[in-house]
Amino acid sequence: MSVSATLPSLLPAPQALNATDGRYLRQAIALADRARARGNRPFGALIVDAQGVVLAEASNANGESGDCTAHAELSAIRLASPQHSRQALASATLYSSAEPCVMCAGAIFWSAIGRVIYGIDAERLRVFRGERLDQKDAELSCRDVFGRSSHAIECIGPALIDEARASHQGAWKA
Ligand SMILES: [Zn+2]
Repeated sequence: MSVSATLPSLLPAPQALNATDGRYLRQAIALADRARARGNRPFGALIVDAQGVVLAEASNANGESGDCTAHAELSAIRLASPQHSRQALASATLYSSAEPCVMCAGAIFWSAIGRVIYGIDAERLRVFRGERLDQKDAELSCRDVFGRSSHAIECIGPALIDEARASHQGAWKA
């Protein structure tokens, strides 16, 4: 047994949000619940510009499509990117019900979106993912990816953890 397995993990502390960010993050959580109701992984995301206009929203569609890349954040970026300039996206915020995976963090980098706010963090999510290999995430955080970016990507999270966690209760099979 490794040393780390015997020690309690240090979970990231929740970060406070202002009322506007809280409202949009709750919309992302509602999109996660919608995904779950349709037989998908419970994840949702939306992209909001600097004026508060929703540019795109998406729910996870893994179950419906059979596409392992049908993550909410990636799908939202695919909707927004052809329609909006990199300049507009640079001042936009992507709200995600959960911490973006390494694939979605890469898509956020390519999109030039400059700000990310997420609900439940990857560490707390691992409690739900269980031991099945097809449910495990890569242990490389979105901040690891953003930190190597040539442009600044602000990242806030976890936030509204209890609300974001509720979408996952009973949704994963060990
Ligand atoms: Zn992802």
